[in-house]
Amino acid sequence: MLEKYFAILEGEEKSKYLQNKEKIPLLIRKAEEIFQNCHFCEHRCGVNRYERAGKCRVKQASVASHFFHYGEESMLIPSYTIFFSGCTFYCVYCQNWDISQYHAGIYIEPEKMAFMIEKAWERGAKNVNWVGGEPTPNLLYILQVLEKCNANLPQIWNSNMYCSIQTMDLLKEIVDVYLTDFKYGNNQCAERLSKIKNYWDIITRNHKIAYEQGEMIIRHLILPNHVECCSKPILEWIAENVPDAMVNIMDQYYPTYKAMEYEEINRRIKMAEYDEVYDYAKELGINIIK
Ligand code: SF4
Repeated sequence: MLEKYFAILEGEEKSKYLQNKEKIPLLIRKAEEIFQNCHFCEHRCGVNRYERAGKCRVKQASVASHFFHYGEESMLIPSYTIFFSGCTFYCVYCQNWDISQYHAGIYIEPEKMAFMIEKAWERGAKNVNWVGGEPTPNLLYILQVLEKCNANLPQIWNSNMYCSIQTMDLLKEIVDVYLTDFKYGNNQCAERLSKIKNYWDIITRNHKIAYEQGEMIIRHLILPNHVECCSKPILEWIAENVPDAMVNIMDQYYPTYKAMEYEEINRRIKMAEYDEVYDYAKELGINIIK
């Protein structure tokens, strides 16, 4: 598990974007086409992002913060984490609502960001962690950064995975590890709590693609009262379809943002809920991150 990730860290292998460096100008041209008729994600707004933002509220990339993150999974830290503002989801309980739902941050020239990534590499970062909000609307920018960058660091796509097929195709050439957020076990819960359509169909499709084209860590944040409808179907799907993925079962949910308007999620999870999900994952033979 994560063999390639560790091989890059040991210097035995090059990260994918360095292996594909000569393709990056072509990838940028493809991303520019998508950007002008935006379909980086499955909202498929079709807007010209040079002129206006779509549902994610992102025109050009806006970096809310970037720093050495020590709160990620143990094999990832320290992780040079780049937080974009804006998101393709509208989760009523978003734990990062200040950057995902409101404009925050500044545009940083790609050359400058590439330079900072190289410095982070020299200072011991283990990876570049593209997150937000959501990285998907910012793929053109990410490619522009990587074109200028030479740090042999694994690239982590830390995403809700609501990407379009065209985005998944570009990611194939640059992403080493997919760090995914698998939230709901059906479309109805996603529509109610994240205002997203066809969640299950799109997210399962993209997880299958990502599993084929990179290594994978799946995060599942347990929501109160969503064990039967969400946690269990997700774990069953993982066991059947992406059995080698590592899974982080997360217990840190707390009601924030608009969660108090939704009675069933207006509390932390109970220990019994966590135990039930954890035991079920063990029963299914899932690779749980301890
Ligand atoms: S990335 Fe933003 S503008 Fe593009 S399709 Fe998705 S929501 Fe719409």
